[in-house]
Amino acid sequence: NLSGTFTLINGVEMPYLGLGVYLSKNGQEVANAVRWALETGYRHIDTAAIYRNESGVGQGIKTSSVPREDIFVVNKVWNSDHGYDRTLRAFDRSLEQLQLDYLDLYLVHWPVPGEYRDTWRALEELYKQKKVRAIGVSNFLKHQLEDLMESAEINPMVNQMEFHPYLVQQDLIDFCQQHQIQYEAWSPLMQGKVFELPEFQQLADKYHKSIAQIVLRYDLQKGVITIPKSAKRERIISNADIFDFELSASDMDFLDAMDRNHRYGPDPDNFEWSV
Ligand code: NAD
Repeated sequence: NLSGTFTLINGVEMPYLGLGVYLSKNGQEVANAVRWALETGYRHIDTAAIYRNESGVGQGIKTSSVPREDIFVVNKVWNSDHGYDRTLRAFDRSLEQLQLDYLDLYLVHWPVPGEYRDTWRALEELYKQKKVRAIGVSNFLKHQLEDLMESAEINPMVNQMEFHPYLVQQDLIDFCQQHQIQYEAWSPLMQGKVFELPEFQQLADKYHKSIAQIVLRYDLQKGVITIPKSAKRERIISNADIFDFELSASDMDFLDAMDRNHRYGPDPDNFEWSV
């Protein structure tokens, strides 16, 4: 079932599998990817203002035959738009670009030090105004979550983090679970590096599935939302073919044991905030 969901703390259903569109080109490329994904049965699209492809994403949604209310659209406020007023303006710009009148989930993209608390107040306001059905964060480690929750009226409902078998961060997953913050994976395919690793090929052969399908199924069984990126139709289709098999407990352990705390993306404690 492609539209399988996890229920967020406020009761909103968030589809387990989404399409990532980072580095998908604005215009026809991203519009096609979004339309193909929706035709395949994806009901969740993950974009961000900084990806500079929101208008193409909107075009893809519009030209698909799937009703808007059946699609879970996620966007993120960029580092240069932190602060209460700037975040509200950035949100409006994103809606305009996407040609939508509400979002399903709005995330603080990175925990810019000294700024994210004010940004969060803007997200709370957007949530109260029902312009967004859920609010959350991305790239928040435990200390940043704790700091945010100290001043927050509404706790983040989602934390989107780099996650794959080389970067599990089980302590952070457990912390999020305790606070009913849904964990979500970015770069679930290690930005494509996963395809070069023989240990994954072994599992793929064992289950007669592709490496991508093994790793995305791992996410599902961990209870982690996942958003693989592709702009190619065949890959978009095959990445979603993960609902007809189950990894054994020992293979889940085997994948967990690959953890080496290795990041392909930036470290939230040492991010180049000026980018
Ligand atoms: P990913 O792990 O999804 O890997 C994508 C790469 O794998 C691409 O090069 C793609 O061509 C290749 N690929 C995909 N399916 C394949 C298949 N079946 N066979 C062979 N190759 C395949 O990397 P990502 O794009 O970094 O992460 C996914 C999404 O997560 C992004 O698109 C974006 O939406 C989100 N993201 C969020 C943050 C954040 O800070 N919140 C950061 C990075 C990415």
